[in-house]
Amino acid sequence: MLKKLILGTLVLSSSILLANEVNVYSVRHYDTDKQLFKMFENKTGIKVNVVKAKGGALLKRLSVEGKKSPADVLITVDAANLFKAKTKGLLQAINSSYLQKNIPANLRDKDNQWFALTKRARVTVVKIDSNIDKKITTYEDLASSKFKGQIVVRSSNNTYNQSLLSAMIEHHGDEYALKWAKGIVVNMARTPKGNDRAQVKAVANGIGKIAIANTYYIGKMINNKDKSQRDAVAKMKIVFPVFKNGGTHINISGAGVVKYAPNKTNAIKFIEFLASKDAQKLFAQANFEYPVLKGIKASTLVSSWGTFKEDIISMNSLGQNNAKAVKIFDKAKWK
Ligand code: FE
Repeated sequence: MLKKLILGTLVLSSSILLANEVNVYSVRHYDTDKQLFKMFENKTGIKVNVVKAKGGALLKRLSVEGKKSPADVLITVDAANLFKAKTKGLLQAINSSYLQKNIPANLRDKDNQWFALTKRARVTVVKIDSNIDKKITTYEDLASSKFKGQIVVRSSNNTYNQSLLSAMIEHHGDEYALKWAKGIVVNMARTPKGNDRAQVKAVANGIGKIAIANTYYIGKMINNKDKSQRDAVAKMKIVFPVFKNGGTHINISGAGVVKYAPNKTNAIKFIEFLASKDAQKLFAQANFEYPVLKGIKASTLVSSWGTFKEDIISMNSLGQNNAKAVKIFDKAKWK
């Protein structure tokens, strides 16, 4: 009897504790995020617990933990990763009229299992004094022979490149995408190596003339402790290519509610908060990204890179075409 009573009290107290927290698995690790989470705690009284790791590790952890996972919210980058989380059955549908109304349809899962919170563009970065910027028009054209030996880009096992190729597939189909990838391989200044920042550095140091990179890395390099990154990026500028009949390639970071979230209501509140007017600007600013909420401006630095027309294909297609993209990269011998 006593045992039962104690057990009952324990269960009760732990469920009260659970009701006042939200457990977040996130790939993000910025001071501004911490500030935002504090804002959420003050506003709602819900404590935010964050587990940080790389995207792949978080998905693996969620899979392994299964029903026992304490995770409520998954925050990760690249639509293909969110799609993967959904396909693996790690997320659940969110019923939120706020998110459905305010996050554009192309920036959320078609079954409402994840929503974009920030946007980034995958662009070309060139030397300020190079003049090559005038030749850059479309992504399609980057594969033309006039850029032979001039492009530096990271390897094809990277999700950002896979998503760019997925977008190409969505616009023009598999065959065209293969031809395009082969054209880019011919145009490479070197065998792919390093991350996006390494490509920007390479061009700054005279290897190739066009780097392909995500916009926020320019912000990260400008604000870097490492002088070699600051010096390299000071020589560079962004050029926004577009898809023929489309816009500049967009990718996202976003969030979903975990399948077995113990604090589902809090999880939805938390994601709604990150998509709120108050939070959007700061949340995007932390990683030099673009807010998803209409009417919210990017930071002064990000805005200084210029305006561009966004491609509006659905982020769902980046996930759907991912397997094809990986195969096409292989065929094209994009290392
Ligand atoms: Fe990144």
